[in-house]
Amino acid sequence: MPEKSHPAEQAPIRPVCVVGAGTMGRGIAQVALAAGHHVTLVDPDAKQLAAAEADILARLGRKNPDAAIAAKERLVQAQDISEAPSPADTIVVEAALENLEVKQKILTAAANHFGPDSILATNTSSLSITEIAAGIPEPARVVGMHFFNPVPVMRLVEVVSGVGTDPAIATTVATLATSWGKSVARVRSAPGFIVNRVARPFYGESLKLVEEQAATIEVVDTMLRSAGEFRMGPFELMDLIGNDVNFEVTRKVWTAFHHDPRYEPSHLQRELVAGGRYGRKTGAGFYDSYDGERPDPDPAVADDAACPGAAILRGKCPQLRTLLDRASVRYSVEKTGGLPSLELPGLGLVTVTAGKTAAEESLLRGGAVLVLDRCLAPEKVSAIAFAGESGPLADAVVALLARGKVRAYPIADTPGLVVARVVSMIINEAWETARVGTASPEDIDTAMTLGTNYPLGPFAWCRRWSPQSVLELLDTLWAEYHDPRYRASQSLRAAVRQAAR
Ligand code: NAD
Repeated sequence: MPEKSHPAEQAPIRPVCVVGAGTMGRGIAQVALAAGHHVTLVDPDAKQLAAAEADILARLGRKNPDAAIAAKERLVQAQDISEAPSPADTIVVEAALENLEVKQKILTAAANHFGPDSILATNTSSLSITEIAAGIPEPARVVGMHFFNPVPVMRLVEVVSGVGTDPAIATTVATLATSWGKSVARVRSAPGFIVNRVARPFYGESLKLVEEQAATIEVVDTMLRSAGEFRMGPFELMDLIGNDVNFEVTRKVWTAFHHDPRYEPSHLQRELVAGGRYGRKTGAGFYDSYDGERPDPDPAVADDAACPGAAILRGKCPQLRTLLDRASVRYSVEKTGGLPSLELPGLGLVTVTAGKTAAEESLLRGGAVLVLDRCLAPEKVSAIAFAGESGPLADAVVALLARGKVRAYPIADTPGLVVARVVSMIINEAWETARVGTASPEDIDTAMTLGTNYPLGPFAWCRRWSPQSVLELLDTLWAEYHDPRYRASQSLRAAVRQAAR
């Protein structure tokens, strides 16, 4: 008879030593205690230790008072690693200062104190795991465990391997994180790991759009929240994170990638940092105040009578079709191999952006053209940006969208508009991250949905919009700007070619 697996036969719960009792350390200690581990919390600052213990027990106690009492018995404090209980199978999770020398010193002390069977994990958010491991006894057991703030709430842990990390050690900490209720994304040590790299265009491209005066920060935020379904707009988020912190992460990733223009920090944000406008923590950043709900900016208005009675839909475009259905406007469908468009008879054409400006589209098609931004879910989108000359065509589109309860925002005639451009750049970064083997597409999607709460992983988003349309938009941006930041990932191009066979 096959033996039944028995809980007692599962891997033993190893002791955990968390070094650093600040924001992250206390969160990590809390989830380890909640999962039943014996935890030693180390910090040279006695006040931090006392505050951390009070915080952890209060948070555990809110959920379950008995769990807090049990956790207290399994929690030990120490002001130095040398004072910690020293079982040989201890898993150390370092969450002290973001400084290479400090981390190396801590992990060397931990290696000496706990011996060769311990695992040395670091919660670094930006340093190379390979570099931290260099000079530490048995560097193969040094691994990244990148938690997100607040640790008890955020489900993602990036498990990061340096060039010398033993894969079995990475698997052990991945299993550990899973047992703490986390989802794991496996990463090879590279600047920004997954999340802090793939998220760069969310900020960088939005900053570019505002620098180019395509739209105001309020409109860009509104578009990415409504048409992009991101929880927060990039400018609200930068103000929340702190422009000093966000600028520094960008600068570090840019420097680590040898000043690749894809990550170039923005002058606009640098000015804010120089002026002490860090965001919420200083009372002002991109925005001047944070009191109460911020209303969305006013959309374009048009008389309902301007709404067209009929339209002709050419080619396959689910976004235009859904918006027409929502407005209950009658339309006929004509199959065509060309770029999908909507003809409003006597007024002109409407297209969903493929990267070209409305002016260029008008020139190519020999008539008025209005370009709409893309959205994630046309059936529920509530606001969308458009570009094109004001006049009867724009009025008709604004009225049509209003009938379907979609607010329309005119912006400057910008290649790729807002959501299509920012998201295509995120998707491109994801393809590039996978191309060089930093992480798999599946792990990248996990990381971006759980680590930053994106509504969809970049690869899933790419499938939804089609890799071909994302590539076309990127190539059009490249043709327009000749800025290498818009070079499409070779593997995205290869995937499109493969699909066309
Ligand atoms: P924090 O400033 O809140 O806490 C740092 C703690 O480390 C302090 O209590 C300090 O007394 C202690 N410390 C300093 N030197 C020490 C030493 N030699 N030994 C032990 N403890 C020491 O910082 P934090 O926000 O918790 O960040 C900790 C680490 O986690 C950093 O490497 C940071 O980059 C990383 N991280 C932070 C976040 C975040 O959102 N805060 C997210 C992911 C990763």
